[in-house]
Amino acid sequence: MGNNPFLDYWGTEIHKDPAHLSSIAKAVKKDTSPVRGSLDKEKRMCLFPADNCGNVYTTTLFECNGPSRPCGSPTRPCKHMYRLAMELGLFDGKFETGVNKNLQLSASEAIPLVDALPYACQEKVKDFLYICYSDGDRPFCIEASDKYAPLLSFPLLSPIPVSTDALYNLYSTKRDIFPLLDRAAPNAPRELSKKKLFQWCADNLSDMFYAFTFVPDFRRAQHTVYSHLLKKFPNLDDDTI
Ligand SMILES: [Zn+2]
Repeated sequence: MGNNPFLDYWGTEIHKDPAHLSSIAKAVKKDTSPVRGSLDKEKRMCLFPADNCGNVYTTTLFECNGPSRPCGSPTRPCKHMYRLAMELGLFDGKFETGVNKNLQLSASEAIPLVDALPYACQEKVKDFLYICYSDGDRPFCIEASDKYAPLLSFPLLSPIPVSTDALYNLYSTKRDIFPLLDRAAPNAPRELSKKKLFQWCADNLSDMFYAFTFVPDFRRAQHTVYSHLLKKFPNLDDDTI
């Protein structure tokens, strides 16, 4: 026995057959992403979303209860088994992870995650949602602080490198960054233009900021989560409330 249970079972030759190539081509697509967190490396199994209602297919390297029941055949792995094998590093494939239309988080899944954050972080998530809502997908940025550190491991946000774009979302004028420079970089070249100064800060002071985007599967629920946070933390200076 080799140490690759997928190839030991299915062999190495069949994967070049046109029918298999088509399953392999589907397996690498975003739409064949497994359910978030369902990959069990020890048991070598995972779940795939069947619809947006939480129904799933269970897939191992050798069996799948996907839509064609049985999905695949005694002589042929289905796209789910190929994808599982790729996720486990047992079969070559440059697979994309991301916006599986069946993988969007529901508001009832997202709200408890937000509510579990400390209040200061919840308010930041509200601010990010507001930016996202009014300006589309943009990077969010805040000055690094212990009180916001829980956002770094918050499952609805992806930490990204600090960029000038992210800093533009944080500071509206060049002077707004001066208090931070006073504390952290008294010798910063403040005479630079706003754009160049922000670039200098992104290059030299990256530890001073946290930058994020929302994860792709938190699209559908954003609006409902924003409404939830707005009730909890009203904008006090907004006359309409
Ligand atoms: Zn299948």
